Amino acid sequence: MSIDPYAWLEQSLETIHRADWYRSVQTIDGLCGATVLLEGREVINFASNDYLGLAGDRRLITAGVAATEKFGTGSTGSRLLSGHRELHRELEKAIASLKQTEDALVFSSGYLANLGAIAALVGKRDLILSDQYNHSSLKNGAILSGAAILEYPHCDITVLKNQLIEQRENYRRCLILTDSVFSMDGDLCPLPALIDIAAEFSCMLLVDEAHATGVMGKTGAGCVEHFNCTGKQLIQIGTLSKALGSLGGYVAGSATLIDFLRNRAPTWIYTTGLSPADTAAALAAIEIVQQEPQRRSQLWENVAYLKKLMQEQVSELKLLPSESPILCFQLPTAADALKAGKYLKDAGIFAPAIRPPTVPTSRIRISAMATHQPTQIEKLVDALREFVNY
Ligand code: PMP
Repeated sequence: MSIDPYAWLEQSLETIHRADWYRSVQTIDGLCGATVLLEGREVINFASNDYLGLAGDRRLITAGVAATEKFGTGSTGSRLLSGHRELHRELEKAIASLKQTEDALVFSSGYLANLGAIAALVGKRDLILSDQYNHSSLKNGAILSGAAILEYPHCDITVLKNQLIEQRENYRRCLILTDSVFSMDGDLCPLPALIDIAAEFSCMLLVDEAHATGVMGKTGAGCVEHFNCTGKQLIQIGTLSKALGSLGGYVAGSATLIDFLRNRAPTWIYTTGLSPADTAAALAAIEIVQQEPQRRSQLWENVAYLKKLMQEQVSELKLLPSESPILCFQLPTAADALKAGKYLKDAGIFAPAIRPPTVPTSRIRISAMATHQPTQIEKLVDALREFVNY
């Protein structure tokens, strides 16, 4: 008797539906910005990672179009074969200059940068210690590497230290992995303490600055700058797709690290180089980050205004501790989070429900942008107040 080998897919989808974990896409139209057209209706956008409002910026668009005209749409191959352009190198130098590192390497996404760097740096005889709330790309990079993995409770330095006391000597190399801004909570890792622990136990430390680049630190270099840790021996990862408004990822660090990754990171060697348009747009964005600090100041003003209004007017909502433009409030169940997301959408606000398995508890995630107007922030808080009284 033959059994349909794909029958489990339907059953699995049914289970996902029953748990209220089913995900589907929502179509956005037009240029992205502080407002977007969501399924044909204009809504205020609190859902994007475009913290500085650069994804729709004319200068990035012009740079992308010019690079496409000059080099074509695709880079046509691996950077080691036909896919390398001088533009990639210019971008890498710009990232290294922003991050104050010796060098940088551009990958085709932040996810690939994490997978490739982790898999290249550790293997079967090694140990990874990873914050339990780390992004999926860090977690899957750890699995791909084949190293032993220990998770430590979120930001819990004491447990991390005890794990190292017990386990460090059993392994050859050790790599600590952490997000700097936690993407679904908005809080920061205890970076200075992590650096001390890494030094004490001779561990490499990889910091994912995906949500911090362009946002945190005086010059927008990220949490490493925010915590005054620039110049330390770190492996910094990030994306070009959030505050930098483009697509792609990077690793920044010592020249030796970058040279090694060019030779060993599978997701850099065996994938097509970033497209000319994305590369040029990211390069234009870094220039703006460096030359227009007022965008960052405006973002932080908006974050402060939003937090103030929320504390004054919707204190019933359980806000998670945040030191970034990401503000989340928790809801009891996935169904409640979906209801809240729908309520806000009907009120003209785009702020999505985030549910397990992405996060341990369901929530609404709000991200502020530099380009939000005060009235848009007030409308969000009005809608939240109505939701609380609903
Ligand atoms: N790290 C973190 C912390 C992220 O939030 C993301 C994106 N959600 C990534 C890495 C992956 O970046 P990209 O979207 O460029 O693949």
